[in-house]
Amino acid sequence: MSSHSFQNHHSDGGSNWAPILPTVLALTFLSFVTPCFADSTSSEPANNAASSASSKKVGGTAAHASDSANAGSNANASGINSGADGSAGFQPASKDSNSGKTADATSDPRANEDARKLFSSKKRPASLPTLSIGSASCGCIAGAKKLALNGPYWQVMRPSRNRYYGHPSMLTYIEKFAKRAHDVGWESLLIGDLNMPRGGPMPTGHASHQRGTDVDIWLQPGPKKILSTNDREKLEASSVLKLDSAELDPKVWTAQHAAFVKAAAQDDNVARIFVTPSIKKALCSCKSADGSDTAWLRRLRPWEGHDDHIHVRLICPPAEKCVEQEPPPEGDGCGEELDDWMNKTALDPPHKSAHPGEVPDEPMKPFPLSKMPAECIQVLDAKP
Ligand SMILES: [Zn+2]
Repeated sequence: MSSHSFQNHHSDGGSNWAPILPTVLALTFLSFVTPCFADSTSSEPANNAASSASSKKVGGTAAHASDSANAGSNANASGINSGADGSAGFQPASKDSNSGKTADATSDPRANEDARKLFSSKKRPASLPTLSIGSASCGCIAGAKKLALNGPYWQVMRPSRNRYYGHPSMLTYIEKFAKRAHDVGWESLLIGDLNMPRGGPMPTGHASHQRGTDVDIWLQPGPKKILSTNDREKLEASSVLKLDSAELDPKVWTAQHAAFVKAAAQDDNVARIFVTPSIKKALCSCKSADGSDTAWLRRLRPWEGHDDHIHVRLICPPAEKCVEQEPPPEGDGCGEELDDWMNKTALDPPHKSAHPGEVPDEPMKPFPLSKMPAECIQVLDAKP
């Protein structure tokens, strides 16, 4: 059983996060020489088989960063329909004749029902023009596309969850990133959760992954061979951290890992990538000496959990008017904020020893349908 304890849904307000330590601990991190990027395209992918890290659940079972601070519980309904291809099939959200306000999901007879159950009951995408609606932590997607279970250099894990749907921009991103990662010696991507067929809040595992623009990718390379269905359901990801520590495990973390994370971030469609703070720390130590190559580094956001997978969030697809999160703070983010995260992680490491009688993670709180953007009602009710 996982000892993962992060179930709180924080906003990614790095600058808002109050350091929890009254006195900063003089912790020594990265006690080994951190390997930087693999620059040989012919190098073999890292082999994690000898990892000392104990396995734990992954691919979405960890709690995720929410962007609720910027979400607004009801997305700008009137704006959503003005997307380039958003008019056909979508009814504009109506205005209340008395208040003049745009109708929202509170007027739906199911307003108090749990949107987690309603959205997870839909096994196929809504047959509507593709539209990413709302925010990553309060939204949905119409006309989502299914990611192939096997592609050139990727394999989808946990297919039984049916969470491999996303916006076309996400599918394109995965395809391009898988190729770039392969070029730096990462045989194939092991893909965790994207979104449910219509997005929306999931019954387990994530606060975000709701509007088609989020994906979890394991922090270990997949094999060349096609994994069996059984392997995809049963294999577990391993942490890149030492047990009970905030430090990267030198027996696990390699130059290929560094190159893999850098390649993930080197795409202008990426809004942010959540990683365990030690990963950001390691990559900060590898940045180019003149400091000019930091655009990709800025996208890496230290966050709790994320020691056995990275979580990639793409920007709002252009012209769809989903709710964009504020960009990360200016700069490469290698300074004080990161140190605060390192200290926090040292006190509460995500990769913990298992303890007998451990209390399982609490079930997620219900997510009333009334919180959703009005257009998500149409997505919910559309024909497959
Ligand atoms: Zn995630």
